[in-house]
Amino acid sequence: MLLSTKDLSFEYPGSSEMVFPDLDCGSGETHLILGPSGSGKTTLLHLLGGLLKPKSGSIKVNEIDIGKLSGSEADKFRGQHIGLVFQQPHFVSSLNVEENLLLAQKLAGQPTSSGKITELLEQLGIAEKLKKKTSELSAGEKQRLSIARALINRPAVILADEPTSALDDDNCKNVINLLEDLAAQNGSALIVVTHDKRLMDYFSKKTLLN
Ligand code: ADP
Ligand code: MG
Repeated sequence: MLLSTKDLSFEYPGSSEMVFPDLDCGSGETHLILGPSGSGKTTLLHLLGGLLKPKSGSIKVNEIDIGKLSGSEADKFRGQHIGLVFQQPHFVSSLNVEENLLLAQKLAGQPTSSGKITELLEQLGIAEKLKKKTSELSAGEKQRLSIARALINRPAVILADEPTSALDDDNCKNVINLLEDLAAQNGSALIVVTHDKRLMDYFSKKTLLN
């Protein structure tokens, strides 16, 4: 398994414990985690990406328990193996779309390639925004740029938080098909957390949070 969790729990200071169902996702598999607002989806995704440390349980990515790594080890591991699509994406506002993606390649120690960037932006339908500042993008365009940034380095595991919530039905379908295609092309595991029930029919595995 590329990613698996066991007996995972988490607690924000002063709040009650959240317990998560066990997950596993193999190479080329897609997993949808569906739950209402406040059910812990973002928390779970941040645990899977090593941004939060679990209270108990294990999170194995490529056989490494990411919950047991130090902060800097987890950052390095994430850069090499995990692409995160955040619910609230932040970009470097002084840079344009292309420069933000060149930066993502550099930070991961990858060779920079404008060709790869343009190809991915074309697949996402925002190639004409290449030279635009990120502050000039609509919410849906930012969401697609966030996906581009997560995928540009072809990570083994793609974690996406509400990647379609700001998209209309047509773009929702395009984006989810593209995420699945790119995951399949790269043999990546794709895990999406969302409250968007439009995504129900697309995934090979589903887990409900409540
Ligand atoms: P979802 O993404 O499903 O809407 P979250 O993971 O964001 O859910 O939140 C799960 C629960 O944890 C909610 O009750 C929320 O209020 C609480 N929570 C989220 N972030 C924090 C935080 N930084 N500190 C304390 N409680 C938090
Ligand atoms: Mg959330």
